[in-house]
Amino acid sequence: MKGLYVHIPFCEHICFYCDFAKRVAKNREMIDEYLDYLKKEFIQIPHETKQFDTVYIGGGTPSMLDITQLTTLFEMLQGLNPMEYTIEVNPESYTHEKGLLFKQYGINRVSLGVQSFEPAILEYIGRKHSNSDVLFTIQDLNALGIENISIDLIFAIPGQTLTSIEHDLDIVSTLNIKHISYYSLILEEKTIFYHQYLKKQFRKADIDLEADMYEYIIKRLKDLGFQHYEISNFTKSNHASKHNQLYWSMDPYIGIGAGAHGFDGTKRYQNHRSLPKYYESFKESESIETDDQYLSDYLIFGLRRISGIDISAIESKFQIRLWDKYPKIQSLLALGLVEIVNNHLRLTAKGLLLGNQVFEVFL
Ligand code: SF4
Repeated sequence: MKGLYVHIPFCEHICFYCDFAKRVAKNREMIDEYLDYLKKEFIQIPHETKQFDTVYIGGGTPSMLDITQLTTLFEMLQGLNPMEYTIEVNPESYTHEKGLLFKQYGINRVSLGVQSFEPAILEYIGRKHSNSDVLFTIQDLNALGIENISIDLIFAIPGQTLTSIEHDLDIVSTLNIKHISYYSLILEEKTIFYHQYLKKQFRKADIDLEADMYEYIIKRLKDLGFQHYEISNFTKSNHASKHNQLYWSMDPYIGIGAGAHGFDGTKRYQNHRSLPKYYESFKESESIETDDQYLSDYLIFGLRRISGIDISAIESKFQIRLWDKYPKIQSLLALGLVEIVNNHLRLTAKGLLLGNQVFEVFL
């Protein structure tokens, strides 16, 4: 498997929790100029390398591009014909006309930024859409035949209660969607929330409440027919994200656009986030991944999957004895954070809540 990630770093507004590479575009010309440079970077990819199983257009907010700009972007990528072709959409910038364009250019998966169905929570985190925007987008995409729809949701937002999560999942139960990415709110530096936190105007959600919410989400989504396949990801009828699985399997991917990164199996690179620097020389840094880093990433990404890691496969691939290399696995087993099932090492229900404690052992 091999993927292409395309970053569109523009948003109509800035959400208070977001630390992605993004900015509010000053005008339409700023986006046009960016698309010109994006094309220059894309053209540099050697022809024989331009074979992708998945293409993912993320951001930022790709759906805020107007029809002409989206057409320019899709024309650039035309002919790749990946088996999974995803675009990120914010509900307030979706229109039927854009949906038609997605269909015309072969987009077959949409990742929709919903985050919550509670208006007060949406306002608190700086989102601008309404529930009716979400419902319209999902109905319209389904009617157009783009049925592989994923929604992003967030829990552990200050002010959210278990009842809020129940309410969000009541609405989820009525939607025709195939996938959910459900993240807990992380307080990242360089975000509006972080500034509020420094001024003591933001308090993180209670850690026990966060655990209760996560347990409830796992159980409720299971009851709704979703399979929990990665710490934060749930799928119905085998619609796991192929593109994200490629990251978790350490398969190669090329990233283009400001702030994008890529991995060819041995080397990792990162593009500049700042537009002037990106325009000057796309790449900011490049480094060879050491064998130890590769193994560590492989194990951590593997353990994020609910099925865990195949112990024999890892030992044979890396020519190691897992227990010799990481003797602390024994204490993780004793603490009930990991378990061995069918020769796979995987997180337990308790380990899912305390994943970072487990991953530290493999760093
Ligand atoms: S969360 Fe999405 S829409 Fe909000 S600022 Fe970040 S990239 Fe933009």
